[in-house]
Amino acid sequence: MEWWRHLRKLDHHMPWGEVWKMNPDLVMCLDQFLFDNSLDFQILCGTQGVHSGKLHEQGFAVDFGVSCHKRRRFDVLIDLFRYPFRGIGVYPYGRYPKLKNPLALHCDMRPLTEQPFGVRKLWIGIPKDMTDRSQGNNYYGLNEENLKRFGVI
Ligand SMILES: [Zn+2]
Repeated sequence: MEWWRHLRKLDHHMPWGEVWKMNPDLVMCLDQFLFDNSLDFQILCGTQGVHSGKLHEQGFAVDFGVSCHKRRRFDVLIDLFRYPFRGIGVYPYGRYPKLKNPLALHCDMRPLTEQPFGVRKLWIGIPKDMTDRSQGNNYYGLNEENLKRFGVI
């Protein structure tokens, strides 16, 4: 747990779930992204995340929101891609009431055994039923066409 002291934006009191399971590479990479880009943010979940199954349970994934009120959501996404997350999910309808113009994201450091080296897992998650989020999401490719279709850019 000693490595948490070196972070600049994140700390172990945030809602990570089982904080001791959180993967240091993932948390340090997210901390760097938030620090470099001076983003307001909110951590939603770590190990208690419901989707992406074992990745969350084992501490390899985090769901969070960033505020895009100073910069366009597309620019924030481009910046996010500069960091070596191995999985990135965008949730255009994710809700973060405390953040201005929020962008809801999932980032992970999935083990290399689950994804070929240098290949990222990318997706857009859209609720199956906007009035009942418990129905889960439909998943789409993370590309320009779908980013426009779902109002991210
Ligand atoms: Zn997630």
